[in-house]
Amino acid sequence: MAHTARSDEEKREYFDPPDVLEEKVDMLVQWIKDSKHMIAFTGAGISTGAGIPDFRSGMDTKLSTGPGAWELRAQGASRDRAKYRTTSTTKAIPTPTHMMFVKLQEEGILKFCVSQNTDGLHRRSGLPKTALAELHGNSNLEVCQKCGREYLRDFPTRTAFGIFAHETGRKCDDRKCRGPLCDTIINFGENLPEADLNKSFKEGGIADLCLAMGSSLTVTPAAHIPRLVSESGRKLVIVNLQRTALHSMGTLCIHAKCEEVSTMVMKKLGLPIPEFRLKRLVLITTSHCEDKGEVEVAIEGQDAFGYIFSFLTGVDMTENGGHGRTHHLREPFGIKLPWKPTDPSGEEMKVELTFHFQGHYGEPSIARNLVIKKGMKDKLSYLKLSYNPFNGQWTVTDEESKVEGEGRVSEQLEKASIN
Ligand SMILES: [Zn+2]
Repeated sequence: MAHTARSDEEKREYFDPPDVLEEKVDMLVQWIKDSKHMIAFTGAGISTGAGIPDFRSGMDTKLSTGPGAWELRAQGASRDRAKYRTTSTTKAIPTPTHMMFVKLQEEGILKFCVSQNTDGLHRRSGLPKTALAELHGNSNLEVCQKCGREYLRDFPTRTAFGIFAHETGRKCDDRKCRGPLCDTIINFGENLPEADLNKSFKEGGIADLCLAMGSSLTVTPAAHIPRLVSESGRKLVIVNLQRTALHSMGTLCIHAKCEEVSTMVMKKLGLPIPEFRLKRLVLITTSHCEDKGEVEVAIEGQDAFGYIFSFLTGVDMTENGGHGRTHHLREPFGIKLPWKPTDPSGEEMKVELTFHFQGHYGEPSIARNLVIKKGMKDKLSYLKLSYNPFNGQWTVTDEESKVEGEGRVSEQLEKASIN
């Protein structure tokens, strides 16, 4: 199936002439406007614009990322790094196509996105997990085999070599569980995640418009979803340079680069394509235990939608408002310190927190003051951050302190094994 060599005709790239492209995109835009339930189906072709090579492009491809990984393997060739511009998935910046889907979802137009990509760019771009099925996994995600808890990481999780081997060597943070974590990559011959697959078929069953972009529509069962839409007489629009396995089934087939089509579509819809920002949410929980004469601080990273997300390489906590001893914390981040008030009234203790990031986009560390008030219990504060990779600046989009939650500090401390 997937790895079999492709014929020259299958590898041939088509480019619609400008007037034809214009006409086709006009038609697509009208259908998007008319749609009641639009879904997207995406493949590696939407990420080549971000510098991530695809699988099936031929040796003479017009793409700047060069031939596909499987084509190189079939030809016994290796990638000419001087000729082609490629980027690792962790450093890649989501393309106009990814950002188009973020905007269309925010506008309520796009209802769901089924992706075959493992590069994690849909989630990084800001598409909520609830509107997305990553049928072949996410290279940044690992899952506990005992309790099912998901850990999104700002680094590739896969460490295993065998096709059917998935343990990453890390363990669940929950001390009562400590189950082995496994990467979520689906290799050929392995079953797809059932819940995501069922949801995708359900969405395919009700979609009146399926926009398939950057996929050869070859790999099953994923490709059965656009097929299902077409077979039941609903609209299937295919955007791909090569002819796809469902070419004759497409209501409309557009041959152009995905990012070019996305830019045209959004312009014609009168909607801006949002510029990519790296979104980070840091939760800080603080308690003062008067009877023990201690303070407890716990820190956790989350994505914009509340899912656990490891994006900090470390947190430094400096006592005495940033002028005392510094403690270097590792994930899961939690610490207990003696209560040492830093103001004359003895009512509060100030520490400085410095957050260190993975830095795939060169994002610098950030320092913030944390004020711990006498007698405060499980006080949750948060820091919402947005990083612009184009100018290297962090923006604090929101910073608030509110008292809520119970037992969060102790839960984090328990995970951190600090006693
Ligand atoms: Zn677990």
